[in-house]
This record gives sequence, C-alpha cells and structure tokens, in this order.
Amino acid sequence: MAITDKNTKHKVKTKEAFRKAFIKKVEEVSGEDFSESTTRHQYEALAELVMEEITAEWAVNNSRLHKMEEKQIYFFSIEFLIGRLLKAYVNNLGWDTMVEETLDELGVDYEAIQAEEHDPALGNGGLGRLMACFLDSTAALGFPGHGNGIRYKYGLFEQKIINDEQVEVADIWLKNGYPFEIVKPDKAVVVKYNGDVRVEEVNGKMQFIHENYDPVLAVPYDIPVKGYRNNTVNSLRLWSAKPVEDFDLSTFNQGHFLKAMQRKSEAESISQILYPSDHGFEGKLLRLKQEYFFVCAGLKRIVRRYKKHNHGSMDGFPDKICIHINDTHPALCVPELMRILVDEEGYDWDVAWDMTIKSISFTNHTVLPEALEKWPIDMVQKLLPRVYQIIEEINRRFINDMNWFYPDQVDRNYSMAILKDGQVHMAHLAIIGSHSVNGVAELHSKILREETFKDFYAVFPDRFTSVTNGVTQRRFMMGSNPGLKTLLDDTIGTDWKKPGNMCSLEALLPYAQDAAFCQKLGDIKHANKERLAKYIKETQGIVLNPDSIFDVQVKRIHEYKRQLLNILHVILTYNQLRSNPNADIVPKTYIFAGKAAPSYVYAKEVIRLINVVADRVNNDPLVKDKLKVVFVPNFNVSVAELIYPAAEISEQISTAGKEASGTGNMKFMMNGALTLGTMDGANVEIAEAVGMDNVFTFGLSDTEVYNYNTHGGYRSLEVYESDSRLQEILGQLISGFFGESAGFQMIYDSLLLHNDTYFVLKDFAPYVDIQDIVSNVYRDQKQWQKMSAINIAHSGIFSSDRSIEDYEKRVWKVK
Ligand SMILES: *Cc1c(COP(=O)(O)O)cnc(C)c1O
Repeated sequence: MAITDKNTKHKVKTKEAFRKAFIKKVEEVSGEDFSESTTRHQYEALAELVMEEITAEWAVNNSRLHKMEEKQIYFFSIEFLIGRLLKAYVNNLGWDTMVEETLDELGVDYEAIQAEEHDPALGNGGLGRLMACFLDSTAALGFPGHGNGIRYKYGLFEQKIINDEQVEVADIWLKNGYPFEIVKPDKAVVVKYNGDVRVEEVNGKMQFIHENYDPVLAVPYDIPVKGYRNNTVNSLRLWSAKPVEDFDLSTFNQGHFLKAMQRKSEAESISQILYPSDHGFEGKLLRLKQEYFFVCAGLKRIVRRYKKHNHGSMDGFPDKICIHINDTHPALCVPELMRILVDEEGYDWDVAWDMTIKSISFTNHTVLPEALEKWPIDMVQKLLPRVYQIIEEINRRFINDMNWFYPDQVDRNYSMAILKDGQVHMAHLAIIGSHSVNGVAELHSKILREETFKDFYAVFPDRFTSVTNGVTQRRFMMGSNPGLKTLLDDTIGTDWKKPGNMCSLEALLPYAQDAAFCQKLGDIKHANKERLAKYIKETQGIVLNPDSIFDVQVKRIHEYKRQLLNILHVILTYNQLRSNPNADIVPKTYIFAGKAAPSYVYAKEVIRLINVVADRVNNDPLVKDKLKVVFVPNFNVSVAELIYPAAEISEQISTAGKEASGTGNMKFMMNGALTLGTMDGANVEIAEAVGMDNVFTFGLSDTEVYNYNTHGGYRSLEVYESDSRLQEILGQLISGFFGESAGFQMIYDSLLLHNDTYFVLKDFAPYVDIQDIVSNVYRDQKQWQKMSAINIAHSGIFSSDRSIEDYEKRVWKVK
C-alpha cells in the first residue's frame, strides 16, 4: 500500500494510514497477530515500509541518472562507515513525528526498534565516516553523487575489554540479513587477476590481450541514499566477490575437489574482511586485490551506463562524470580508466590521458609516512599484468616530460616517479593522474604543498586546493541531540535546518548573552549526560556523576592522537587527590573510547593503561565523586551518537601537524562542547571561527614540531628531569603501582629511551595548565554556557553541506 500521497510531495497521507500499514506489515513479517510481535518483527516491518517508500523514488532518480542529464559524482572509497540507517531514513523522509507518535500510541519502543539494526562497521574511522557524511550531504543538496566500495562480509571487529585489554571479536553484521540493500546480480561484472598479456597487431594497431587470468565475479549491492526531505535518492554501491562458477567443474571432475573449493574461497576472500588498520599501510596481496576489485567493477558499470546512453561513445565522458578518489586506495582508477579508453575504446594515448585527468580528482587524507601506500612492483606486475604495463607507460612519459621541461632537475624529477625503489607509489600515481589534489583542512593542505608533495606543487600549482572536512548535522546533531534541535528551532526558527544553510545558526549569537537561553542549553546538556550515564551504567555497571565535567576523548587509538597525554594528566590529578583528598577541584569524568588496530601493540598498551587507571581510580574511596575514568568499549557510529551530545570538553590533542583534519572535533562543537586542543587540523579553523577566547589551545605549533624533527634539539629526558610530577607518574608506570599484572615498560621506554616521538612530555606542562584553566572557567556556569552557545552558533561551516558545496565549486563543477 502506498503511504505517500503523490500529490503532496513526500507527505505521508495520515498517521492513520501509517498505523494501518505498520500493523499489517508487522503481521506479514511475523505471521502472527500484532500483539504477539517482537521488537525484531517491528524493526523488520518499519524497515520494509521505509524501503518501499524510498525505492519508489529511487526508481525515478535512477532513470534520471541513466539519461545522464546531470554530471554524476562517484566517490570511490575503500571504506564507508555509514552507521545505522533506519532512523536517518525516517528523518530524511520527514516521517519522524508520525513514526514517533504512532509507535508511542501503539506502545512500541522506537529506541528498541532502532537498536535491532546492526551498525554496519564498513570503515575504521574518520576517512570512512567522511564518505558517509558526504553521501548524506550530496543527496541533501540534490546533487547526483554515489558511493562505490566493498561489501565486506565482516566489518571492523567488535571491541571487548577483558582484563583491561582490547579483545577483538568478529563482527558478523549480516547474520540477520540487512534490509536496506538490493542485490543486482544482473549487473555483476568480471574482474580479472593474474595471467599474461599477449600483444597482437590488428589493422596496424597494437592489441593487448589479457589471457589465462583468474576471473572473479563482482556482484553489486545497492543501498539507497535518501536526501533530506527532497526527492533525491542516490546510491551507495558495494561490491561483493563471488566465484565465476560456484564450482570449477573441470577441476572438480578431475577429482580435485579441494582445489575447486579453494578457488571458491579465494574469490570470496576478496570481500571477506575490512583491513582493521586506520592509518598504517597494509602491504598484503589481498589488500591490493581489494583495491583493484572495486575500482575495476565500479568503472566498468559507470562506463557501460555512460556508453549506453551516449550512442556507444565515450567522447563526452569527462564532462558528465567525476571520479573522486578518497585517499590513495582507489588510485588504480587512473591506469584502469586508461586501460578502458586505450585498449577497449581505441583512443590514442594522449587523448585518453587527457580524458582520464579531467575525470579524476583526488583527496589526500594523511601525511603520516607509514600511511602513504606503496606496492612492490613485482606484486602489481604479477597480479595486474596489463594495468602494470599502463602504469609503466604513464611513469615513462611523466619522467620524459619532466626531464624535457626541467633538464637541470633530474634528481627531483626522479624523486617524483611512480615507479622507484622497486615500488609503485600510489600517491604519485594519484597526483599525476588527476586534475585536482586536495587536503582536508587548511593546515593539512599547506603541509601537502610545502612539505609532503612540494615537488609536485612546484610542477602543478593549479592542481592543488583545499577543502575542509565537514560532518552531517542531520545525524550528529539534529538526529542525536533532539533537545538541542528543538531549542534552536524555538529560539531562531527552523531555517538553519535547510540543507546548505547551517551558517544561519549565527542568528544564535545574541542569545549567548541571554541567561534564560543559557540555562536551557545547560539543562539539555545535563539531560544528554544523564542519557549517556544511563547507557554506561547499563552496559558497564559504572555510575557517573552527571554534575561533573564530562571530558571526552573518543577516536581511534593512535600515538599521534595522544590519548597517552590525557591519561598521564588523569594520573597527575589522582596523585594530587591522594596527597590532598580535600583539594577543591571541580569534579571530572574522563571518558575514553576507540579501537586500536589489532597489530598495533603500542596503542593496545595505551588502552590497557587507561583501563588499569580507571580500575584504580574508580575504586579508591579517597577520590569519592571527584574523579572518574571510563573506557567505553566498541566505539562505533551508534556509540558516537550517544557520546558527542553529552560532552562538555572535546579533547583534540594530537601532535601538531599530524592530524589532517579531524571530524570528531566538529561533531563535538556542534553539540556545544568546548575544544581543548592543539593548533592542528581543523582545530585551527574552529579557533578562527569562534575566536581564541572560546577555545582552549595549548602546546607546540606544527612549525615547532617540524623544526625539532628536522633540526633536532628536543630531549625528552631533560623535560623529565626538570618535572617532579612526571618523575612520579612515569615511575608509577613501571612500578606496578596500579596493581596491574605487567608494567608499562613499552610506554616508559618510548617516552624516555626513544625520545618521545610525539612530544607527549614536551606538551605535558602546558596541557596541565590549560586543564586547570578549563576547570576554573567551568566554575562559572554562565560563562561556560555562553562559550558553548558561541561554539554552536559558529559550527555551520563544519557541516558537510559546506564541504560538498566547496568541492562542487573548486573541484567537480557540476553546474
Ligand atoms: C567522527 C568519527 C571518527 C573520527 O573521529 P576523529 O576524532 O576525527 O578522529 C571516528 N569514528 C567514528 C565512529 C566517528 O563517528
């Protein structure tokens, strides 16, 4: 039954119609009377109703898309960290009030229904979440933009904390099925690995024929991306790997049963797991297979569709298609598109090269050297023989051109090569093969231009640009902080909620001086803190004091993000309380969450340290209500949606120059938390937006860090020897003070023996000082709420709607 009245755009006819449809659907999925239904049935029923509504619009959109009336953007990314979708769909359809009221009247628990959805963890952190925010904003703004990635059978591991340590458990997210995807077997394509390339001359032209390859079938699963209260429905296409035939019959018939089975499992392994490493480079053959897998399959479908609607010609392709590559994992788009244009479409190299560059744009996400992808040449050559030949030719022509234009710069020219030191340098391939290269915050883009890629910048200055990241306010504020949303509506009206219009939140500024408004803002924060405290009580049995400051650091665990600095300061506070239990300190609750890559031993030690300190502090009667430490397990999008709205302090304390942008910092800000951070990534822009009076900054600047790293001059031992607080704390790390089974020698050594690569000790004293300032400001609640209001008022520029508009103007030029 159609719920939508087609005459009034996406308006649900009536609550009554929805109520009937819902009850009927629950009875269909359960085969029982409504009164017998479980939460699971109700979830499945609501999901189906939502999908029926959206797929009707989707079909209309897809036919628009097929006609190629508008330029299409395709985000190629190895991760899409989309989070739960049910509530987002309901909200974007404009069904929220109707659904909430109806379910309430039926005595059905909407929150419980939402919790039935398994949060798809198809990404590690910021990079994957950024893609999900971009898809939401692209659809909200009515642009045709789609995702292209991998449908991992197992998402990122589920994190449990057992005996203070991270334990990884497989995430079987598809166990109960997934209602928001549609599999399209008729659109499956073959991806070819290994084999040989035979060259043949046909009519005076060289033909390259790929033979004896291992074929793998790529099957697309499409998830609709529904725009906010408009009629745009875009697609997230995730590819799943299958054997071409379930059994390799000829092998099977010869009696090689195991070999036939092995082929099947080899094929399926390609989309089996997400690599659980957020920054470190994974040099595995399987990872390279994954990268080619979604690149090859995605481009094949895009090209096929384009040709079908353009009389079989590819000529206008770059005017209608943007291939946007999210970090270097999809950089094989460059040689693969060349392969299609040259080998399959018969274009001359130069024409094809021009078309490729015009079609592709590239976003870089990190400057950490261990994250810049490089593949052994022989591995690429064997796995992707024809693609490798094309990379070789791209490289040869590039170096030739450079040597022609810059004959006196042979060393520099060679240093920019794609192929050198026996490796394929993916970032070089991406820069050389695209028309736009951008960093993800002003500071990061500057570092790309001046350090990481300075030689490329000298050669291609026009290619470099900057687009500061953003996050979708629809999920991370309106959806997860309804109290705040309502207060804003009541205070300044509802215009700020229109896609692309979040900067009109500045209308809030006068209210920052308004005592009644600030009181309400504080009340909402308090309610959000209680909501989080309830969750932590229920899941971990730890009781939090909602009147204490909630000081929060949630993100992947990484040395450069410096969770260590935070916990060392906690230990300091604990030591101070032990020596003076009656000290007049503002009660504080430190909340940590985040996963460490399973192979990242140091990061796992930091998790253990946080938990060990938490055990000790939370169980020490001396401390009473003044200090609490919690590590919330299994940080994912759903947990994030509970935590950000409850935070008062946003810890963004990376070593300056290391965090490309950060997006967590933006989610905190739009929920009214105050940033306590280094001048790094987008923190710099947050500080610019709100003014230095409304953020708490500290620590070395990126230039100071750079100078120490290039010219030396930092000795962590000197800092240690001159600070008795550090001597006590670091002593406790190795003395078994916290009652743990093993000391933290590895952490101790990194700080003192290996000269503290991330400047934790150097920034310790300024960090302690700024923490004291924060506590003092908090004593003045009026002042605090005023600062909080100012932060919310200026958070509009960190909406991903603004990022997408910037990409559109600077990179894609859709209009
Ligand atoms: C926003 C987000 C991140 C990124 O956080 P940063 O603080 O920018 O590192 C990681 N994981 C999840 C689940 C997120 O929602």
